[in-house]
Amino acid sequence: MEDCLFCRIVSGGIPAKKAYEDETALAFYDIDPKAPVHVLVIPKKHIASLAAAGEEDFGLVTHLMRVAQRLAKELKLDNGFRLVVNTGREGGQTVAHLHIHLLGGRAMGWPPG
Ligand code: AMP
Ligand code: ZN
Repeated sequence: MEDCLFCRIVSGGIPAKKAYEDETALAFYDIDPKAPVHVLVIPKKHIASLAAAGEEDFGLVTHLMRVAQRLAKELKLDNGFRLVVNTGREGGQTVAHLHIHLLGGRAMGWPPG
């Protein structure tokens, strides 16, 4: 999707500080971090949101979780971390390409705002 910000990061049109990459997934540092560690884990395939993911996408979604777990270990988030998948308008999603926020390096509050 040419007009999708994260697709443009995948294709290299927009630069990002990469944390992990393989054939189907990419992780990069959030440009406006909300915690000492704030990485976004995305599929290279354009999927607009978790709500838009099809049955055929869930192998990939599971892989993204695996990447997040691996990054949390690599980034030494041994005291814990949080994964967030904002979905849709009320979910606070601002970029319409599925992404998992990996947040860590501080204690998280609950409930989220
Ligand atoms: P969400 O609000 O859940 O859709 O998350 C979108 C995230 O993308 C926000 O945390 C933004 O700070 C982040 N973001 C927007 N543009 C960029 C960019 N060019 N590089 C890295 N992160 C970005
Ligand atoms: Zn996209």
